[in-house]
Amino acid sequence: MTLEELMNAPAPASGWVLAQDCAETGLDPREIRTEMARRIGEMRASIERGLKTEVKSITGMVGWNAKGLWDAPDVLGAPLLRRVQAYAMAVNEENARMGRIVAAPTAGSAGTIPGALIGVADHLGLSDERLVDPMILAAGVGKAISKRMFISGAAGGCQAEIGSSAAMAAAAVTELLGGPPRACVHAASLALMNTIGLVCDPVGGYVEVPCVSRNAFFAVHAVSAAQLALAQLESFIPPDEVVTAMAQVGRLMPAELRETAEGGLAQTPTGLAVTARMEGRQEAEGAQGMIELPMA
Ligand code: SF4
Repeated sequence: MTLEELMNAPAPASGWVLAQDCAETGLDPREIRTEMARRIGEMRASIERGLKTEVKSITGMVGWNAKGLWDAPDVLGAPLLRRVQAYAMAVNEENARMGRIVAAPTAGSAGTIPGALIGVADHLGLSDERLVDPMILAAGVGKAISKRMFISGAAGGCQAEIGSSAAMAAAAVTELLGGPPRACVHAASLALMNTIGLVCDPVGGYVEVPCVSRNAFFAVHAVSAAQLALAQLESFIPPDEVVTAMAQVGRLMPAELRETAEGGLAQTPTGLAVTARMEGRQEAEGAQGMIELPMA
């Protein structure tokens, strides 16, 4: 499946993805829809848990951001923006606490789709049932991307991981809001095109900084892409060519910027201090059993 084929499929785009999936797997459409509804339920549960707690992650770098934003005054008068950001961070902070999340497509990018899609749905008062087909489309977009490009930070930088999730989310939000297949795929392409070059440089090698806030930013990025596409703005570079360009950039990216924690934010003095502290903690735990060290 290519994005070009998806763009030219009969509406709705999710229906075409579902038909392809059924043909490939032999599953009944109801089975796929039921499973997708279950995953949406898991996404929502991780949002709800994440918005209520301030329990720190294993390193102490994150854990309170989602609740902090959710409880803060809406100073911008932009409730959708705050909701999308808080939902995305809630999921990724759950991930950082080793909680249960739905990888979409990876754990590091798990907050982008629920942040954007469930955030928009809740803002508009739409039921979770309405999200099943857009989520099927998101899966189809992810599959089309993965055929040409890596979807992990280790392989292609954060552009591959967060770029894929933002593209999937952008297509899903576009379909949720009534966009035709062409607009859905252009939303995905716009999201991808404007993520090219993003490196993977997690502090200490933990999926916490910049990952938690990055999901908040890219969930909003996905909603922005949907807004442009729904206004019939399109990606100048054809969607499949954008995917190929991103894959090429990923191949050109040095290993230091592909989840090794050997470059970027991970190599700042603060990033190195976190690494040293966590290494010391691991040694101490190894020698004395589980002990708790305070956050520096
Ligand atoms: S910085 Fe790396 S680990 Fe963090 S979300 Fe991006 S790809 Fe994943």
